[in-house]
Amino acid sequence: MSDQELKKKTEKSKREKLRKGKPLVYEKIIKLAEMQRRGEPTSRIDIGYNYACNLKCKHCMANTFQKKNRSMTLADLRSIAEQADALGWCQFNVSGGEPLVLKNFDEVLKALMPEKFHIGISTNGYFLTEEKARHLKSMGLDKVMISLDSYDEALHNANRASDGAYSKAIAAIWNAKNAGLDTIIQTVITHQNAKTEETVKLAKFAQENGFSLDLVIAKALGEWEGRHDILIDADDAKFLRELHNKYPAARRDVFPSYGMRGGCGVLKGCFHISQFGDVFPCVFMHITIGNVFEDSLKTIVDRGMKIKRFRDPSAICLAGEDKTFIDKYMSRFYGKPLPVDYREIFTEEDDFVQE
Ligand code: SF4
Repeated sequence: MSDQELKKKTEKSKREKLRKGKPLVYEKIIKLAEMQRRGEPTSRIDIGYNYACNLKCKHCMANTFQKKNRSMTLADLRSIAEQADALGWCQFNVSGGEPLVLKNFDEVLKALMPEKFHIGISTNGYFLTEEKARHLKSMGLDKVMISLDSYDEALHNANRASDGAYSKAIAAIWNAKNAGLDTIIQTVITHQNAKTEETVKLAKFAQENGFSLDLVIAKALGEWEGRHDILIDADDAKFLRELHNKYPAARRDVFPSYGMRGGCGVLKGCFHISQFGDVFPCVFMHITIGNVFEDSLKTIVDRGMKIKRFRDPSAICLAGEDKTFIDKYMSRFYGKPLPVDYREIFTEEDDFVQE
């Protein structure tokens, strides 16, 4: 079977699984490509419901955001889910922090209406026993994304400042798969590690064992703030494309899938809501375009879509690959208390669509 045939077969079987398991989600998902063609947002919402975590990873940015008096509640989650459903959207991801430290995580899942949404979590895997994975699956969870900083155990443990982090993550990957959850390994690709044997080994491992490998390109943020030397270049991007051709399980978010055009999904394909209600156009852009405690999702997204760089398509990742965008806009929030209001980053005269 050719690589293309293999890709089509995998996508078809995922769709079929969804049609049988979550028919209401399936009905929405098959309409997304048409919505995208009409220029409408089809956003997957990443929610940092709570930034609590059991680890202290070097690269984590969750605790860099300014605390506010009000945090997200279960009622807020339910309201977000109802609004997203009315807009025809069908995917949530719960990140954090570490969602599995939350004692009320079952309630979080219920509030997000799993019968109407495809739901994933981003986790370090520490608490994902097979029993827990099976329980979450029975509650309506579909997908688990587990971070692996490297195929190299020592490197992963050093990054996570925890000796057991690698073995916990590997165990979690298998536990999730054995429980029938879609299992995605997430790894960060810098200019320095892109074209290395470690990256190839991870792709091969994912392909041979039925996992997906999410190649998340590095952004000059957090501990790497201002470090443009870690950003991938055109050669690295070409290498990652070739890696995907050889091992289709390894993919970037800008690659096309499920009949959807590829390219940067900023705002119209995905966005992030922080624990404090702020909406970021992308989890890696610490710019707030509104707050869900004050405005509806539609008002906030319509506002963001007036910013030309979010409305116009981009074939490459704005936050980690488009050097013009990074120099002109991302660098404007370096060193500032986060998140920064969009009016401090974009100017009315240059950056907004004029009606
Ligand atoms: S800026 Fe990059 S990470 Fe963010 S949505 Fe676009 S491609 Fe994805």
